[in-house]
Amino acid sequence: MAKTAKETPMMQQYNAIKEQYPDAFLFYRLGDFYELFNDDAIKGAQILELTLTTRNKNAENPIPMCGVPHHAAQNYIDILVDKGYKVAIVEQMEDPKQAEGMVKRDVVQLVTPGTKFGTQADAKENNYITALTQTPQCFGLAYADLSTGEEKVTTLMESEEVFNEILNLQTKEVVVDSSVDSEITEKLAKLGILISHQAAAITPQAEVSFLTQTITDTTQLQVASQLVSYLTLTQKRSLAHLQEFVVYEPMRFLKMDHNSRYNLELTQNIRTGKKQGTLLWLLDETKTAMGGRMLKQWLDRPLLTQSSIVKRQMIVAGLLENYFERTAIQNDLVKVYDLERLVGRVAFGSVNGRDLIQLKTSLEQVPKLRATLKTLPGDVFGPLVELLDPVHEVTELIATAINEEPPLSITEGGIIADGYSEQLDQYRDVMKNGKQWLAELEAHEREVTGINGLKIGYNRVFGYFIEVTKANIAKLDADRYERKQTLTNAERFSTPELKEREALILEAQDKSTELEYRLFVEVREVIKTMISRLQALAQGIAELDVLQSFAVVAETYHFVQPTFTTDANLAIIDGRHPVVEKVLGRQDYVPNDILMSPDNSIMLITGPNMSGKSTYMRQLALIVILAQVGSFVPATAATLPIFDQIFTRIGAADDLISGDSTFMVEMGEANNALKHATPASLILFDELGRGTATYDGMALAQAIIEYVHQNVHAKTLFSTHYHELTELAEELPGLKNMHVGAIEQDGDLVFVHKMEDGPADQSYGINVAKLAGMPDALLTRAEVILKHLEQQGSATTLMQVTNHDEVVVEKPVVAESIATTVQQPDDNATDLQLDLFADTTVDPKQ
Ligand code: ADP
Repeated sequence: MAKTAKETPMMQQYNAIKEQYPDAFLFYRLGDFYELFNDDAIKGAQILELTLTTRNKNAENPIPMCGVPHHAAQNYIDILVDKGYKVAIVEQMEDPKQAEGMVKRDVVQLVTPGTKFGTQADAKENNYITALTQTPQCFGLAYADLSTGEEKVTTLMESEEVFNEILNLQTKEVVVDSSVDSEITEKLAKLGILISHQAAAITPQAEVSFLTQTITDTTQLQVASQLVSYLTLTQKRSLAHLQEFVVYEPMRFLKMDHNSRYNLELTQNIRTGKKQGTLLWLLDETKTAMGGRMLKQWLDRPLLTQSSIVKRQMIVAGLLENYFERTAIQNDLVKVYDLERLVGRVAFGSVNGRDLIQLKTSLEQVPKLRATLKTLPGDVFGPLVELLDPVHEVTELIATAINEEPPLSITEGGIIADGYSEQLDQYRDVMKNGKQWLAELEAHEREVTGINGLKIGYNRVFGYFIEVTKANIAKLDADRYERKQTLTNAERFSTPELKEREALILEAQDKSTELEYRLFVEVREVIKTMISRLQALAQGIAELDVLQSFAVVAETYHFVQPTFTTDANLAIIDGRHPVVEKVLGRQDYVPNDILMSPDNSIMLITGPNMSGKSTYMRQLALIVILAQVGSFVPATAATLPIFDQIFTRIGAADDLISGDSTFMVEMGEANNALKHATPASLILFDELGRGTATYDGMALAQAIIEYVHQNVHAKTLFSTHYHELTELAEELPGLKNMHVGAIEQDGDLVFVHKMEDGPADQSYGINVAKLAGMPDALLTRAEVILKHLEQQGSATTLMQVTNHDEVVVEKPVVAESIATTVQQPDDNATDLQLDLFADTTVDPKQ
């Protein structure tokens, strides 16, 4: 807004600040309130349900205004930030009483969705902010969690990988520089992610200049400093808890695209978006917030190296076998608070006395944990014990310096322990003696005046006083008692000796609170120098916590330790889908074997709807993921190779777009798998091809199976409705038919959920329709039509065109040939999310 001559000095100041933060709500501190003006006020009043008023009501252009009390501001800020807005907090930078002219004001913090500190409710969640830069060759991507100080950076080659990372991190804000294609930022914005702009221009604070020192790649360096610049600019305070950037390569972990993670419901329930009903929900027996966050991180990045996986397994096995030690460890872990975020608050300067006591309590558990771990047999626990540095210095410092039960405020005293500072003890003596003296004075005054109801009291405005009821005033010696305050029924007085003592006590009080604050800050600064040790400890505790959680889960749900092979054989005996089993109950779940080998790498699964095909396929993916994060797995025995990637095309995507399956999405996902899968990959195709006309779909399904068989060689589970496809086993030696049994009892269909060799003998579609309660007449009619069709045998003729030698090996061919027949997906956000990865491989416009 342009300045006009009519503007008051305050509005001029407001506008000058607002100009620097046009995209943020400005919370402008005015006394005990934060005020919002102009458009901020109109929009803010609506979102926050505040009363909209005006400033200068009688002026020509009254200014819209609304406000929130400063002590309640956090709630309002959270609401706005959770909705994806930024809030700039403008404080008074000097004491209004001492200011000459306008009180200086400035922005002290810009709160944004990506920099908001997690609340207690989401302690087990990270809040990641991501930065992105682009070169003609690649992308640089960095992310950080401001509350824990974690920082990572990587290079990615393709935009689809960028979207994968960003979606997997569940990042709410992406900081881009001008190099990033607008096409990418627009897609991100459509996904509800806030885009912020920042070049890597700002020199970071000296205390965080070391953060990027290990990065050698220029693009990574660029994006990392872009991120740190943004954090420095928005936070405007110490970021001493930020950790040195860790360079990571997504290729070093089991690769799954976002849709696969989503469809397998690893951390997010498809229907509710919540944790309940997911693999994470089943696995989370962690006792600490740090452990909870690490578990989620592990699930996002299963390992590829056998030795690293086995290290985790051995610890799980050790904890599983030693129940008493495990229980002791759990009891100690429960008392460990969120070290990472406590340490973050130490750096930020927002830590209080109670936080420090929590820090001490947490650290006190460490020697106990170490002692228990040391009693466990085997040498697998050694490295873990090493990680658990008890940081004694901090425990001792807090124990001697801080009161066991300090108040929340750090400026009002009562926080530093007796005996820590001689000076403070002296002040406290004066105050304490003062109280004693006052009590004696009261007794004395009662005696001299003969007024039994005489009281000595204190209030902030008048200080210490002697209070006498009106009825008794005549008894006082008028010369000695000086009137201070008149109440309805009483008068308050002072005397020269009371005044003198009052000065002493108040001085001691003032000085002692001042000193306490200084001492507290000193303690905080000492702890600040140990931040990296505390963070390393937090990592160790998180790891131990996740591993004990695996042990608990293994015991509760009867998991077994899987073994790994390099010969590409896979044998899972009595495998289960752990989440479905938990929901159904162990007695109602039918376990199934999964057996595959290099010569037998494709399983074609037929069987009626609702018989358990999809559950069987998901079960394999979950077992693979569990095995590769170091957990035990739901089976009675399991041997498997280490997989490099998992691809899925599973029906669940339909739920996302409310039953409106987009065939394009299906083909995009299939194409992605065909292009990138290796013989060490796992592919799950659930009823691929059903999104189009029968022959069309069947032809594609067959071509895709053939293509996988000839060219990809990945372990593949393919479920289908097209019984005709089961004949492929005759042509393709690596393909095995499986079916889920169902039995008909008195014309009713009963699912037994048991996998058997060979193709299903019929599809039972009509039986399922009957189960669903369709009218009898309709069902009878369907039987007649079915008989007719079967007699014609038209569907089977399709199989006769098979000739594998003519399969074209050019990779994207499958999707491209289809793209021409497919409609473009709707241009809405949900479709877009599904379609993101299809776009780079199948562009209908080309
Ligand atoms: P399909 O993919 O064949 O349509 P689903 O895999 O979706 O069938 O399974 C349908 C339902 O059957 C599941 O929701 C589950 O309740 C039940 N189910 C699946 N597999 C089993 C099993 N092995 N044991 C017990 N119940 C199962």
